[in-house]
Amino acid sequence: MKTRIVLLGPPAAGKGTQAGLIRERYGIESASPGAMLREQKLAGTKLGLKADAYTRAGRLAPDALVVQVIREWLAARNGAPFLFDGFPRSLGQTAGFEELLAERGAPLDIAICLEAGPDVIRERVLRRRVCAACGNTVAGFEDSRCPRCGGALERRGDDNLESLETRMTEYREKSEPVLAHYRDKKLLATVAGDRPVEAVFKDIAALLS
Ligand SMILES: [Zn+2]
Repeated sequence: MKTRIVLLGPPAAGKGTQAGLIRERYGIESASPGAMLREQKLAGTKLGLKADAYTRAGRLAPDALVVQVIREWLAARNGAPFLFDGFPRSLGQTAGFEELLAERGAPLDIAICLEAGPDVIRERVLRRRVCAACGNTVAGFEDSRCPRCGGALERRGDDNLESLETRMTEYREKSEPVLAHYRDKKLLATVAGDRPVEAVFKDIAALLS
């Protein structure tokens, strides 16, 4: 069983949904740097406030800061399995992450890339909402509340075509080299994410077992 996992792929490829299913089935806790930094900000830690200053300036947190938040997350869960959703997203983060895992003597087991074409991504981004209470992603507009917990559903602030364009450009420039890196290291597996959730999860479960 693979228990040290990163889940990569373009926006709206289904990473959050699959991370939730992996957590439910295998009890592997998942985390994304964005959520971790938001938590740190709410807790008022130095790291959280630093990250917030970048966000408010419309900039991405620097690689070293993102790796630091991962370091603290891992240190607080000594030796536990992990699944990082959307991390690492640059070669700089990848190098810092590898150093960190080497220090801990716990190398990565697998990098799974969920793939989806531009049309699917565009449609999903425009049709999805996120539960404010539990973070569940809900497709379409049929539900007025979160089917999982009854929480309120909201559009994500960056789910519009303009900001999708920016995120896609950034993905191509910064994250595709990360995929190539893991491919070279024979750690990369790709899964087509433009299929029903259950079919995607079946493939992922087979990769992890
Ligand atoms: Zn919910």
